[in-house]
Amino acid sequence: MSSNPKESLKSTCSYCGVGCGIIVEKDKKGKINVKGNPDHPGSKGMLCSKGMNLHYTVNDKSDRLLYPMMRYSRGDQMQRVSWDSALDRAAAVFKNFILKYGPDSVGLYASGQMLTEEYYVANKLVKGFWGTNNIDTNSRLCMSSAVAGYKLALGEDSVPVCYDDIELADTFLITGANPAWCHPIIFRRLEAHKSKNPNTKIIVVDPRKTQTASMADIHLQINPGTDIVLYNAIGRGLIEREKIDLDFIINHTDGFEAYKEQVMKRTLKEAANICGVRLDDIRWAIEYIGRAEGFITMWAMGLNQSVVGVNKNLSLLNLSLITGQIGKPGSGPFSLTGQPNAMGGREVGGLSNLLSAHRDMKNPEHRKEIADFWGVPSVPDKPGLSATEMFESLKSGKMKAIWIMCTNPLVSLPNSNIVEEGLKNARFVVVQDVFNTSDTAKFADLVLPAAGWTEKCGTMTNSDRRISYLNKITEAPGEAIPDSEILIRLAQKMGYGDSFNYITPADIYAEHCKLTKGTNIDISGLSHERLKEKGSMQWPVPSSDSEGTPRLFTDKQFYTPNKRAKIHSVPDDNNSEAVSSELPLILTTGRIRDQWHTMTKTGKVNKLKKHIDSPFVEIHPLDAEIRGIKNGDPVLIKNDRGSVRVNARITNDIKSGVVFLPMHWGRILNRSFARANNLTGSLIDPISKEPDFKFSAVEITKY
Ligand code: SF4
Repeated sequence: MSSNPKESLKSTCSYCGVGCGIIVEKDKKGKINVKGNPDHPGSKGMLCSKGMNLHYTVNDKSDRLLYPMMRYSRGDQMQRVSWDSALDRAAAVFKNFILKYGPDSVGLYASGQMLTEEYYVANKLVKGFWGTNNIDTNSRLCMSSAVAGYKLALGEDSVPVCYDDIELADTFLITGANPAWCHPIIFRRLEAHKSKNPNTKIIVVDPRKTQTASMADIHLQINPGTDIVLYNAIGRGLIEREKIDLDFIINHTDGFEAYKEQVMKRTLKEAANICGVRLDDIRWAIEYIGRAEGFITMWAMGLNQSVVGVNKNLSLLNLSLITGQIGKPGSGPFSLTGQPNAMGGREVGGLSNLLSAHRDMKNPEHRKEIADFWGVPSVPDKPGLSATEMFESLKSGKMKAIWIMCTNPLVSLPNSNIVEEGLKNARFVVVQDVFNTSDTAKFADLVLPAAGWTEKCGTMTNSDRRISYLNKITEAPGEAIPDSEILIRLAQKMGYGDSFNYITPADIYAEHCKLTKGTNIDISGLSHERLKEKGSMQWPVPSSDSEGTPRLFTDKQFYTPNKRAKIHSVPDDNNSEAVSSELPLILTTGRIRDQWHTMTKTGKVNKLKKHIDSPFVEIHPLDAEIRGIKNGDPVLIKNDRGSVRVNARITNDIKSGVVFLPMHWGRILNRSFARANNLTGSLIDPISKEPDFKFSAVEITKY
């Protein structure tokens, strides 16, 4: 499973879903440096602050996990053990639980930052050989509402557009996203496009006046949870002004009449009141969208991380469908993927309700195809536990053991108390990670050192279906090995060796590509060799002479059974927890520009701390004044689930009644306990199972 590192090789940034191309240069001492790859079609040589500083996270080995560490009981100290001892015990424990309590007593929780090959092996091991669908990843916290929305409206989890559509569009609706901070290179392309074409219109929907909102022609600063009311109002306005594409609606969609009935239930004025925005601003948004030649919607976690996240997605997708702005250059819905390989993970079926190559878990023929391909009697038909459900199940004692890879759920999952209790109550916890700073590892019985970015090869798929090859450039320290190799060794120890006898990651990829043949995401024309030569390609790539597919649905044939897109009429209720006189403020959480997730990587780069070096809560001046809070005051944010202590940042950029906490900080810093997920709750969308991170009732007091 190893290959020789070279001096200067191409890779892809391992942070966000933009997937910027990187050239990694290695000096004689083995230290690396990074620069943007000018030949990359998406990023064109640009990198943001996080990407530009990636080499520090690789060169600094001081916090790396170097050896397998194990303990026999929770009170014991961790001891260094050999890989054989570690995996012998893990294999025995997991086999024993599966035998004694059934396959659903175990599960694997992974990450959208893993390579596709790693995802493939994990998914095959759990669904094919452990016999449970209990494999979920932190993509559940990120894109699962968008996945469900695409599937319901377009028939498949399929982003129709490509980055080059940005320069071909004249109107953008950016909602629930702050690409200026969270998808910076997409934003730079958008900024450059607007600067060259000043008539380009940008409408931003966000309760906060973010940097993205600052460059908008219209900022609709809505009340949290009122997104559907707004999109339905825009839909109504477009219908009333006859700014819809009736020909497209009649010939290529179903559901329009019911939709029309639904959106006519509220007047624009009523919608403006509910959303807390000016009626004129909604009218201008309708005007801009109605006269657009090319209309793109962009969204991220502000929509997805909601108890009605799927309905929010559907109501937004409707705007592209009723205007016929899909399947043509410069138009379409464009979900901004949070993580670099969330899409690659979905391609292999790496969520508890998915099957390989977007096959349908409910379809017995699809399950049989997978089982036959893997050479197992069957794959289970019942969806497994989602991210939050796994930790609830560990807490209740139903699930006994969990294998956690490449993610830090104690900080990133909502309602941290439940996660902590789940980890404490688990009979066996394995944490497979790169760094020794993972908060979750403190609860592990077995910690396994994984190779990091540049220390292994494989592929990732970014936001516009572009699959890139990542070269191996450096050697992993100590005894760390790639995640896929750890899982292969585990499979062999568990007795499934014949089905996991891959020599290189290219073999894993070849098997994955073969399994996609004949599906809508057919990449049977791809291989590591081809990707190395081409750098990157967009799926589907169904044959070796296919050059990939920049844009989907150009023939107006959708992936639904009748090939027509579905316009869904969805209710506009928000089912988040209610605010009250005791907990009157709405807490929303999110990212800051220079940090990533739980800071295990970005937190060790001093340059990145210069932007914002400590946690804070944003609060509107009116809300601060009635509580006697001054800028910089230490404050206590609390609700029934827990509390957070940080300093107040008073700003007009946030809507009155709403407060914002960054999601990154998980530990005690400056005597402040800053984990935002102490406060977030367990509500999830009933379809996507994505948590309601953007809406928790809280109160703030001076501390
Ligand atoms: Fe990396 Fe995203 Fe920044 Fe590109 S935009 S350099 S992928 S963090």
